[in-house]
Amino acid sequence: MIGSLREWVIRQLTLGHFSTRSDVVWRAATLAAKVGILALCIHLAMEATMAQFGLLPYPFSDSVKMIFIMSPTISFMIGFVAYLLVGFAIYDLSRERSEFELLSRTDQLSGLANRRAFLETFDECDRQGKALLVFDVDHFKTINDRYGHAAGDLVIVAVAGILAKVFSGRARVARVGGEEFAVLLCDCGLAEAMALGEVVRMRVEALRVAYEGEEITVTISGGVSTLTMEDSFTSAFSRADRALYRAKHQGRNQILPAPAVAEEPSLVDEGALQRRRFRDASSGRDRAAS
Ligand code: GH3
Ligand code: MG
Ligand code: MG
Repeated sequence: MIGSLREWVIRQLTLGHFSTRSDVVWRAATLAAKVGILALCIHLAMEATMAQFGLLPYPFSDSVKMIFIMSPTISFMIGFVAYLLVGFAIYDLSRERSEFELLSRTDQLSGLANRRAFLETFDECDRQGKALLVFDVDHFKTINDRYGHAAGDLVIVAVAGILAKVFSGRARVARVGGEEFAVLLCDCGLAEAMALGEVVRMRVEALRVAYEGEEITVTISGGVSTLTMEDSFTSAFSRADRALYRAKHQGRNQILPAPAVAEEPSLVDEGALQRRRFRDASSGRDRAAS
């Protein structure tokens, strides 16, 4: 009995999560009403017991009216204000926390998810029927060199916009490096993923980024891999990345599929991949998506 009463009280006092301010007010009023009723019952029981033992200095019937007016009113007001103050503090803290969490998962330049958020999505998702696409802007360094870093940033934002539009609603799109993007696509086979990759390639090719009276044009290369149930992020990403690497070597501005896992050469040229990643990292792409 005491145990379940204790649990009930704890349940009532647990503030939990509030989605809006009016949620806090509503919960404060509900709890304060319960406290008011509880206080009324306790007060009545105490006065009745004291009357039973002749300890009440006034007739019990006189005190009942006062008890009904004073007890619930005072305890409701105290409970309401106390719950409201704590509830608002918790609401503000949880809003700040979710804003901070969102920021820590967002790439500030492009507004896309960052590498960390992408990895989390990848780790949590079921691999069934998914495809991974990686894209890398071609000769991006020359854009920076020719027009300046600010122009390069504009190109990144424009390409990110294309990716967000093409994959809107059905994929996790992230900027995973300086001018490198990854897309985790749901309910999608290789052919469809390739077709969507091609849409991205064509839209990027048609893109004109206006900068200081000039029009910057860019192209993009991509690699596409479907996921297997056994895939880790590293295994899936390295397959797509190898396809991207081939696309670069075959002249850029193209999207290539990764061979099916069974057709993959058993001896993977991880050394070349590592060397490329190291080169990318040292040339600054790790500044992004942090
Ligand atoms: P490739 O076609 O082989 O991909 O050549 P690339 O020039 O695109 O590749 P590389 O890795 O040599 O150059 C990438 C450049 O991206 C180098 C780096 O300074 C630049 N970069 C990285 N992060 C940012 C960023 O946030 N903004 C801008 N403007 N440039 C960035
Ligand atoms: Mg590049
Ligand atoms: Mg790159």
